[in-house]
Amino acid sequence: MSQLLEGKTALILGIANKWSLAFAIAQAFRREGAKLILTYQGERLKRSVEDLAGELGEPRVLECDVTKDDDLAQLTESLEGGRLDAVVHSIAFANREDLERPFVETSRAGYLLAQEVSSYSMVAVARAAAPLMTGGGAMITLTYLGSTRVLTNYNVMGVAKAALEASVRYLASELGPRGIRVNAISAGPVKTASARGIRDFSKILQVVGEHAPLRRNTDPAEVADAAVFLASDLGRGVTGDVMFVDAGFHIMGL
Ligand code: NAP
Repeated sequence: MSQLLEGKTALILGIANKWSLAFAIAQAFRREGAKLILTYQGERLKRSVEDLAGELGEPRVLECDVTKDDDLAQLTESLEGGRLDAVVHSIAFANREDLERPFVETSRAGYLLAQEVSSYSMVAVARAAAPLMTGGGAMITLTYLGSTRVLTNYNVMGVAKAALEASVRYLASELGPRGIRVNAISAGPVKTASARGIRDFSKILQVVGEHAPLRRNTDPAEVADAAVFLASDLGRGVTGDVMFVDAGFHIMGL
């Protein structure tokens, strides 16, 4: 059977552990024949990501903290001479206290940190990766409904996701002439390390499971298959878009 990503090389940023959405995406990309390159943020996660790489056919694993310009420059340098066809940016961070106190209490530093890691990093990664995408390709980031709706406790991260989605549109417009498509997948809530930072996350899962048109929560494998579509030639006409993979929850009113 033919594989949708055969002959393509994908850079995947944001695997922390086996629950990470980026890991589900890496598994699906591998299933579809892509060659993978993975990154980890720092020494703390090196071992865990290297262990997971074992399950993915031993891809190259590189260190990259997206807040460090030197790391991004090093990433480009390490990959020079090769060709990238897909980039998955699956990274976000906000201080736990900014996800708990009222939004109006968000500190300047907390606001900027969430923006830097969760939104600006997509621009920085795109700048680092685009020169390597000599045959065009696809960039994909992960977002959430809190970008356009007020969702309890999502607060500063919702604002960062709004900026991320706007960045997707600007990047898509600029990189389109080079054959590079840029899209976001808006995933329904999934229990991951990041999600555990959101207060009452299990309540969110319960409400979404009860009210989504499909009457269930999102399976990370569904997010991963959407990423395969966007990275593959099947998605060749799609750019600048936010694709919802959330069992339909985003269409519901109260
Ligand atoms: P996750 O497993 O915790 O992944 C988040 C990743 O971001 C981790 O690998 C984390 O590394 C990395 N990261 C944070 N700061 C970084 C930095 N400075 N440099 C490099 N990497 C950094 O959680 P996830 O749920 O899969 O999140 C992936 C993406 O999906 C995020 O953008 C998230 O907002 C989005 N998303 C998640 C859900 C959900 O319900 N889970 C729903 C919609 C969208 P460390 O562990 O080292 O910090």
